[in-house]
Amino acid sequence: MLHNNQLDQWDRENFFHPSTHLAQHARGESPTRVIRTASGVHIEDRDGNKLLDAFAGLYCVNVGYGRPEIAEAIADQARELAYYHSYVGHGTEASITLSKMILDRAPANMSKVYFGLGGSDANETNVKLLWYYNNILGRPEKKKIISRWRGYHGSGLVTGSLTGLELFHKKFDLPLAQVIHTEAPYYFRRNDLNQSEAEFVAHCVAELEALIDREGADTIAGFIGEPVLGTGGIVPPPEGYWAAIQAVLRKHDILLIADEVVTGFGRLGSMFGSDHYGMTPDFITIAKGLTSAYAPLSGSIVSDRVWKVLEQGTDENGPIGHGWTYSAHPIGAAAGVANLKLIEDLNLVENAGEVGAYLQQGMKDALSDHPHVGDIRGEGMLCAIEFVKDRDSRAFFDATDKIGPQVSAKLLEQSKVIARAMPQGDILGFAPPFCLTRDEADTVIAATTRAVSDVLG
Ligand code: PMP
Repeated sequence: MLHNNQLDQWDRENFFHPSTHLAQHARGESPTRVIRTASGVHIEDRDGNKLLDAFAGLYCVNVGYGRPEIAEAIADQARELAYYHSYVGHGTEASITLSKMILDRAPANMSKVYFGLGGSDANETNVKLLWYYNNILGRPEKKKIISRWRGYHGSGLVTGSLTGLELFHKKFDLPLAQVIHTEAPYYFRRNDLNQSEAEFVAHCVAELEALIDREGADTIAGFIGEPVLGTGGIVPPPEGYWAAIQAVLRKHDILLIADEVVTGFGRLGSMFGSDHYGMTPDFITIAKGLTSAYAPLSGSIVSDRVWKVLEQGTDENGPIGHGWTYSAHPIGAAAGVANLKLIEDLNLVENAGEVGAYLQQGMKDALSDHPHVGDIRGEGMLCAIEFVKDRDSRAFFDATDKIGPQVSAKLLEQSKVIARAMPQGDILGFAPPFCLTRDEADTVIAATTRAVSDVLG
């Protein structure tokens, strides 16, 4: 086993970490965190510290760590057939079985699943298919995609453009011109504090209508949204939001992409967020929870309506010019099959709903009256606490105060609990594995209460 010093040095000299302060890390000013092993909701670092991971990695290890059923499925697949491609009609038993399992669980209007590797490439596929679709239909001008500020859809060129967070645009020359943004359904951060939830939904709809009017509906192909805003702050939509938005989209023949990378396969206490909120998307993006991150795999599920047009396109033009070497990778597919079985065998979707509600209620009981806690919200196994400088005026802290990061650092250092300081605003996010128990939820609540009072009084 390598010594810690050796690992630290090799890390700083060779490893380009994503989403990391590059200069500070290379100078050794931020720690190299090496994780060695994990089980259930706990991970263990190289020094033997056991940490309760209340964010499931990056909200992806949904069934929890160390599941032998998935590890064995991966090992069996690797021994039997580690790889073959899926071009020109090739497949494996695992990839074909998984496509059937996904469609059996997806909303009724969905037709086929295209497999990729991660959420970003799946959204890239969705946008390309939407452009292809409108070209086949003879509408070459209908190409723009509407996304929401604070939406998160990846960090590629198109997907980083769809993502509505400044950090992902600034200095990368994004967003690309085909991507336009509209208001986020973030009631807590509405401009007018006197606005009711219903009035705020009407405002979001009016903003969308105005954008469509300005740009012209015949230039807009699609609208992408997460059923619950994730990385942008863990924000469930206000009542009636999706029904009202979908009515506008239908009127202008704009297709809906439901980005279910976080919500797909149970995180909200329902198999899909689309079912949870009565959405009827034309595309559904899936990734993380598809394999619980035991292997990289994503998917773009397309609706009957889209599929029929895509078929027409290939009748005219031959094979579709889209595919990755690793599309439907057998090891990812084997992990997916084992993961979806496990979710059902252990009733983990129900547990996500029940223990998630318990966690959120516990946070409310403990922290609702705190003078710097402005909002506690969530859905299923997603929960967020938003800190404010002043509750009455809802004034926010200065970003340089880094209140969110301070609380999450305190929580880790003091109680060995991992929660995530969300990237924009002082928001502490929780997205534990679905197997979290009530006792473990109690630990997270008590630790959070202590960390909040230590940082904010
Ligand atoms: N969509 C959503 C809703 C996400 O949360 C993420 C990742 N956090 C992505 C897309 C991008 O997925 P990936 O990082 O696997 O490319």
